[in-house]
Amino acid sequence: MTSPGHAEIAGAGFGGLVAAIGLADRGWTVRVHERRQVLTAEGYGIAIQDNMTRIFAALGILDEILAGGIEIDRRDSLNGSGDVVLRLKTGLGRYRISRRHIVSLLARRAQEAGAEIITGSTVADATPDGNIELDSGEIRRADLIVAADGINSVIRDSLSLMERRVWQKEGGVRMVIPRTPEDIATDQRDGTAMIEAWANKRRILYCPNSQSEIYVILTCMESDKAARKTPVDIEAWRQSFPKMGPLIERIARDTDWDECRWVRFQTTRLKCWSSGRIAVLGDAAHAMPPYLGQGAGHAMMNALGLAVAVDEAPDLACALAEWERRERPLTEHTQRWTRIYGATIILPEWLKSLAINAEKHIPWLAAQYSRAAKHLPTGCDPAPTQ
Ligand SMILES: Cc1cc2nc3c(=O)[nH]c(=O)nc-3n(C[C@H](O)[C@H](O)[C@H](O)COP(=O)(O)OP(=O)(O)OC[C@H]3O[C@@H](n4cnc5c(N)ncnc54)[C@H](O)[C@@H]3O)c2cc1C
Repeated sequence: MTSPGHAEIAGAGFGGLVAAIGLADRGWTVRVHERRQVLTAEGYGIAIQDNMTRIFAALGILDEILAGGIEIDRRDSLNGSGDVVLRLKTGLGRYRISRRHIVSLLARRAQEAGAEIITGSTVADATPDGNIELDSGEIRRADLIVAADGINSVIRDSLSLMERRVWQKEGGVRMVIPRTPEDIATDQRDGTAMIEAWANKRRILYCPNSQSEIYVILTCMESDKAARKTPVDIEAWRQSFPKMGPLIERIARDTDWDECRWVRFQTTRLKCWSSGRIAVLGDAAHAMPPYLGQGAGHAMMNALGLAVAVDEAPDLACALAEWERRERPLTEHTQRWTRIYGATIILPEWLKSLAINAEKHIPWLAAQYSRAAKHLPTGCDPAPTQ
């Protein structure tokens, strides 16, 4: 067992906070640096699948997490004319919860475990021998540094760990709008639904996020300048989804556009997930497009897996090697299948419906998409969570 020491963590997102809890629970002193002034700035929604509920159960906060979200009964995939192409019950991913709610509970849990969280603290650099440098010029020493500083990680880049970065041809913008009494009445009639509508190379995905909010993602190709615009170009989107005019108008009117920006999706692969005393995790190590809703899931699974590996192995080098051996294959499986699912966007309409439906008729395909959701994360109890 590696003796507990001191950890400095860059980033108080899903990965950084779960690493903080996992290490603090195992006797480490932990300090988390978050460059934002507040922890809970972004208000978008997260699909909570079984692997994530197991993590929250292992951390003892599952009931509080679920109390702030909403249960979804089914996923409807529609074509541009509004016809339902596929209707699936949401067995494994039936909760939608706002990022704000999850991050604030993880932060509280990390502080209860003894971790210190410093907001407005930007990490400028870290070295494999265990030094971390802040923007303020201050240098701190650590036995373990966790780079959980997101998709544009400065620590990862300073270590030249990137093996491959694939920029997808598509990207998206996510926003949250208020939920009206009419939306809620529809739920009461037909059950709560996540709607995913495809038309040519544009996609609208929306879903209740809580009793009072709807979470929306608009995705399109990078070359589609009209669809990429923020605030949203109502006419461009209405042309593709004529039956969704009222929703598109609400998105244009009710979104806080200062908080939203269109981002191009990317998939990253590192040569190695660690260097000396630095472990890289979450989007910093393995970013993926959002189609299977597992980016945060893998960030949290790999963060808890890191704390377990460090606790079990005789020294840090063995721990980091074992951690990567254990967690990396599933992460790369999800990255691969996320890209395959996302490729549906470039298919012609008739083939798109067939491809979307294939999931229902080919159990092997459905199993590939849901492998991460069904996985028992390292450090979690195999007993059912609910
Ligand atoms: C449109 C879209 C929809 C998505 N939907 C889902 C979904 O439904 N389910 C799901 O599981 N995933 C989803 N994801 C993916 C998910 O958001 C990410 O995979 C997840 O946020 C990664 O967590 P993380 O902790 O690695 O990084 P982040 O959540 O990005 O956290 C990184 C943190 O580090 C901070 N930081 C950055 N640089 C520094 C620095 N130098 N010093 C200090 N702090 C720093 C940032 O401010 C941030 O708080 C979606 C992504 C997109 C783009």
